[in-house]
Amino acid sequence: MTATEIGQKQTCGFQAEVSQLMHLVTHSLYSNREIFLRELISNASDALDKLRFLAVSEPSYLENDTELAIHIELDKEAKTLTLRDNGIGMDREEIIAHLGTIAKSGTKEFLKALSAQQSKESELIGQFGVGFYSSFIVADKVTVRSRKAGLNADQGVEWQSTGENDFSVETISKNHRGTEVVLHLKEDAAEFLDSWRIKNLVHKYSDHISFPIFMKKDVIETSEEDKKADITDVEEFETVNRAQALWTLPKSQITDKEYQEFYKHISHDFSDPLAWAHNKVEGKLEYTSLLYIPKNAPFNLYEREAAKGLKLYVKRVFIMDDAEQLLPMYLRFVKGVIDSHDLPLNVSRELLQNNEVIESLRSATAKRILDLLEKMSKEETEKYAEFWKTFGAVLKEGVAEDFANKDKIAGLLRFETTQSDGKADVSFVDYIARMKDKQDKIYYVTADSAAAARHSPQLEIFRQKNIEVLLLSDRVDEWLVVHLPEFEGKPLQSIAKGMLDLDTFANEEEKKAHEQVATELKPLAEAVKAALGDAVKEVRISHRLTDSPACVVADENDLGGHVQRLLKAAGQMMPESKPILELNPNHPIVKQLDNHKGTPQFAQWSQILLSQAILAEGGPLADPAAFVSQLNDLWKGLLAEGN
Ligand code: ADP
Repeated sequence: MTATEIGQKQTCGFQAEVSQLMHLVTHSLYSNREIFLRELISNASDALDKLRFLAVSEPSYLENDTELAIHIELDKEAKTLTLRDNGIGMDREEIIAHLGTIAKSGTKEFLKALSAQQSKESELIGQFGVGFYSSFIVADKVTVRSRKAGLNADQGVEWQSTGENDFSVETISKNHRGTEVVLHLKEDAAEFLDSWRIKNLVHKYSDHISFPIFMKKDVIETSEEDKKADITDVEEFETVNRAQALWTLPKSQITDKEYQEFYKHISHDFSDPLAWAHNKVEGKLEYTSLLYIPKNAPFNLYEREAAKGLKLYVKRVFIMDDAEQLLPMYLRFVKGVIDSHDLPLNVSRELLQNNEVIESLRSATAKRILDLLEKMSKEETEKYAEFWKTFGAVLKEGVAEDFANKDKIAGLLRFETTQSDGKADVSFVDYIARMKDKQDKIYYVTADSAAAARHSPQLEIFRQKNIEVLLLSDRVDEWLVVHLPEFEGKPLQSIAKGMLDLDTFANEEEKKAHEQVATELKPLAEAVKAALGDAVKEVRISHRLTDSPACVVADENDLGGHVQRLLKAAGQMMPESKPILELNPNHPIVKQLDNHKGTPQFAQWSQILLSQAILAEGGPLADPAAFVSQLNDLWKGLLAEGN
């Protein structure tokens, strides 16, 4: 017997993640269980979209069943809700793969993280998109019958499960192409047998999908006259949705609620979007775009293989999901639809790679999104702050990725600074407006966390002089500053690099005093350098410190300590650049040390000075145990002296 013979049945276990997801879904979405209908209608609509696309090149797939539609049937006696589509369908292998496993990248990690924060389960699971498995919130048994377009009637397949550990699959005969999902409703889900309730839900969630959804006309609606006229025998169906793709309607005819529901339909997100832009463009290119900025980040925002991009339609025919060529990487959080008039219907993913129309659509889309963000940043600052918190680090990638829009993106950046109270809400424009007299640079410091940046010893002089410094702690920040040497003519300057020309802010007397100290302590700097040898590139007297005795900085053209650590963590080889040790001439330790040149302890104390400067900068010590032992020696000496 071959796998495709009628009656052949097998039982398969769900992939562990599926069981876990179903468990979570049925428990955490109970209060929002009506969403199962939206999920199933979305799947049916996708299946119809896919069939319509196939039929463009191969009309025979349509068989004689050309009106693409969804039917919903309620059976009060059997307590079933059936959702039927004549879309692309699934064959036996596909049904096992699609309804038994989850293909999304990062699922395992997501589920693990989810069970660790149960209080937010229902919110988070919404971001994941539960799809078909939401059936089990309302059903204790689900039967799916499907036949793939192009296969014979005896190559249908029936899938059945109670949503526990396994499901069965059996080859059946199915006359009609497409998929039928039968939900055997739980006792407490009887409300979904009420046709009025279902019509309301369709209206609420799925009014705007492109295909008609049919339901049987309510018997109650049949008038006495009709009965007398004996037309009750004829089954009458009515369309219960508007069945017109939302983006094809004029803006004036679409309510906010409808925009929001359409977003949920395409994104499988449970939350409303943060903002959207709907545009019809006629000119050199003709297309409609409906773009959304989500409120929450998808669980796999940083997964390389995660699906991203927009839904592409050509003249209202669905072409593909996740067309990543339509969006630059740094806008991968954007969801939406582009309906083009200029592309051929038989466009393939490969063809999209080097296509002029796609290039233009991509840059127009990017510009549209950046404009939307710019407007939000000016007119709805709180909303923008919410956006920035969620997607700011991703948008920053754009500075390196999108040369054409670099300035625009730079204007959208927000930073935490020494003058913001823990929030990243300072723009370059704000910063420049607050720059001190004679200040011509935008100062920043990078570190692993904002707290580490805030406590960096290199900040001391800036604090004293009340000069604002950007605190950069996103991983992407090191790349950001490489690709953004300046903003509106003001160069960006790391405070942990090179010789800071802070004398600009000092008066003549101070400058003279600085020079004098530097000359006086030159022998100390030389002695420390001799003691440290190759561990440092240079030792010099600095005026950037007020409270700390020493700090390490990088040479102007070397990579800073923070970026070196990032590269190393990423497994990248790089030439090792040694730090420069700067000494604070006004610090008691440094002053005292000057009196101990040539003593037996001098070398060890120089070592301690270097080690603590490296630690304060967030760097690792080459030999931490040696540092501890040096420190203990020092301490022992102090205690012995009775201090
Ligand atoms: P998602 O829709 O997010 O991919 P689902 O769990 O809802 O996740 O569905 C998994 C897959 O099962 C779909 O991607 C699709 O390939 C297939 N599928 C679900 N419903 C249908 C349907 N009505 N017709 C054809 N294929 C379907």
